[in-house]
Amino acid sequence: MGLTNSSLGIKAVDSGLEIKKQRKSDKVIALAGNPNVGKSTVFNGLTGMNQHTGNWPGKTVANAQGYCSTKNQSYVMVDIPGTYSLMAHSAEEEVARNFICFGDPDAVVVVCDATCLERNLNLVLQTIEISKKVIVCVNLMDEAKRKNITIDLTAISKRLGVPVVSTVARKTKSLSVLMNTLDKVTGNTTQNSPLQIQYPEIIEEAIGIIEPIVRKKSLNKLNSRWLSLKLLDEDESLVQEINSYFGEDFLKSPELFIALEKAHKMLAQAGITSDKFKDMIVTALVNLAERVCDNAVTYEKNKYSVSDRKIDKILTSRATGYPVMLLLLAFIFWITIAGANYPSQLIADGLFWFQDRLTDFFNYIHAPEWLNGILVLGMYRVLAWVVSVMLPPMAIFFPLFTLLEDAGYLPRVAYNLDKPFKRCCACGKQALTMCMGFGCNAAGVVGCRIIDSPRERLLAILTNNFVPCNGRFPTLIAILTMFFIGAAGGAFSSLLSALLLTIVILAGVLITFGVTRLLSKTLLKGVPSSFTLELPPYRRPQIGRVIVRSIFDRTLFVLGRAIVVAAPAGLVIWLLANIYIGDVSLLNHCAAFLDPFAQLMGLDGVILIAFILGFPANEIVIPIIIMAYMAQGSILELDSLVQMKQLFVDNGWSWVTAICMMMFSLMHWPCSTTLMTIKKETNSKKWTLLAAVIPTLIGIVACIVFASIARLFL
Ligand code: GDP
Repeated sequence: MGLTNSSLGIKAVDSGLEIKKQRKSDKVIALAGNPNVGKSTVFNGLTGMNQHTGNWPGKTVANAQGYCSTKNQSYVMVDIPGTYSLMAHSAEEEVARNFICFGDPDAVVVVCDATCLERNLNLVLQTIEISKKVIVCVNLMDEAKRKNITIDLTAISKRLGVPVVSTVARKTKSLSVLMNTLDKVTGNTTQNSPLQIQYPEIIEEAIGIIEPIVRKKSLNKLNSRWLSLKLLDEDESLVQEINSYFGEDFLKSPELFIALEKAHKMLAQAGITSDKFKDMIVTALVNLAERVCDNAVTYEKNKYSVSDRKIDKILTSRATGYPVMLLLLAFIFWITIAGANYPSQLIADGLFWFQDRLTDFFNYIHAPEWLNGILVLGMYRVLAWVVSVMLPPMAIFFPLFTLLEDAGYLPRVAYNLDKPFKRCCACGKQALTMCMGFGCNAAGVVGCRIIDSPRERLLAILTNNFVPCNGRFPTLIAILTMFFIGAAGGAFSSLLSALLLTIVILAGVLITFGVTRLLSKTLLKGVPSSFTLELPPYRRPQIGRVIVRSIFDRTLFVLGRAIVVAAPAGLVIWLLANIYIGDVSLLNHCAAFLDPFAQLMGLDGVILIAFILGFPANEIVIPIIIMAYMAQGSILELDSLVQMKQLFVDNGWSWVTAICMMMFSLMHWPCSTTLMTIKKETNSKKWTLLAAVIPTLIGIVACIVFASIARLFL
């Protein structure tokens, strides 16, 4: 028996049953579907929202609601988690089943993948067992066409007894047919008469024994045939839900109890155990799906995904998988660093030119010195730094990374890293959550919900911080460039920066492995669970959309957050640097207090206080250092890395300081947003505290060891 959610104090995935209607007349539509069939793309297309989409199964971890309307009707669309079935083997399946069953939706749209419709029909068949108002939306029709798959939608619709529409969700226009059909189904102008699934005779007989009683008791609120099947199946979690839905112990009725006993006895006499019963149901569904598709779906077998397999051979084979992964990472960093140099400089020039004009203006109106100090040298300068250093790399890195995600590369990374993670008693999906951490660790922590085992989820949450988020990237890049490459720029130097950055990231990954292993051997003991990670087909990414969305949703979002923190932080820091007790500023008092310990770590008091004050957001660590140093010395115009390096060197930095600074940046407490997210996800103060203590301790020890060795040899 492994660790469970409750023993670890972790709460389950959101049930998401609460619907917020805009108008009373809104109809509620559930969007269901297997993972990675384009459900979120359909949802976004209909509602105009920007739910995260990406080419890997399982990325939608929370339910989303959105609104859309036609001429006649307004709708609340509910995007329920992607699942392969409604048999409730996992948290997602339970949420999906509960919503379809008890959420009382006015219709359920099951989004299917046209390139493997037969497999997707399993979910369709289970849904039409529960609800009459089902619409099948066969998506990815363009992919099917490319693979020479033809689908006779009319035949499928006739066989299923529910409307079947085809879409290419990336083209929003193609969704209008789906909306029209929704109008018809919810407005009762089309009467669905879904196909009734026939099970082997003995099961039908057992259903026959209890169904009349179930029908009477369920007051026609739930489909009695399906309910009877589930009661025969002794589905524990469902029975609990049924009880709370009806507000009474459903099975308490003597009449139903006796009938169930009789049916179970009959099944037992026929040698049908609980497992066999389940098997027979699944077999019936699979066979039926095959019959529904018979002659209605045709494809050329040989052509199917041959090219995908060829690419997979390169991207996931032992010999080439890792090198390609590292090269791709280095390549992305290189484009990011090389591409960001020039715009960074340009933005910095512009913003610092404007800073001088602001100061001119303050002088012109004879504003007091302190006002200019607070507003311009405090708030504005920190803002200018954050924008000019963060914006260009983010605007390049995010779209590139999202393109890889959209093309389907991330699951291959998880596949490649599954073995090393297994060795650390964790699972390969942790690699996906690490990838999400690249953008923002808080997002990475939420993403850990894709990991089913609570123990492994906790491992992933506790170690996500070792992947540097976007707030730490620019710091790492700036220090690497200044101290190890030469701040002058140039193609070769950006290549070197990229390689060094790759090494730093690799170090983060190795530490993740180490800490994960250590935790699984101590606090979080357990064996790794087996999981199935599907390798989705490669898809041509939507370049335009990816660029627009990653700029708006990610770049500007992260930048906005940084600015919101940076502006007031700039003010506080300026005050700390300019309020004096005796001859020394408050900031320097604090720095002096921390200095002995910081020196031991190869840093100085200012750097350490910058990390502490940077708790709200890592982006502001460097600006704090700059401000503290500048308050001590002459004011210089800090608009280039050359000058910045000079400032740092003047304040005693050496390459050892630079390395210790990078190490501590990689390994210290998570920012406040991430910690809050960890608290929310684990629902435990203990794990939240550990999430901060573990990286900090490791960081401190690593810095002390490195600095001591360096001192010995220098
Ligand atoms: P979900 O897991 O079902 O929510 O899937 P997503 O909406 O995230 O889509 C998975 C991937 O398929 C994304 O890369 C989408 O851009 C892509 N996609 C979705 N619909 C279509 C479509 O109709 N055609 C093509 N070519 N790609 C699609």
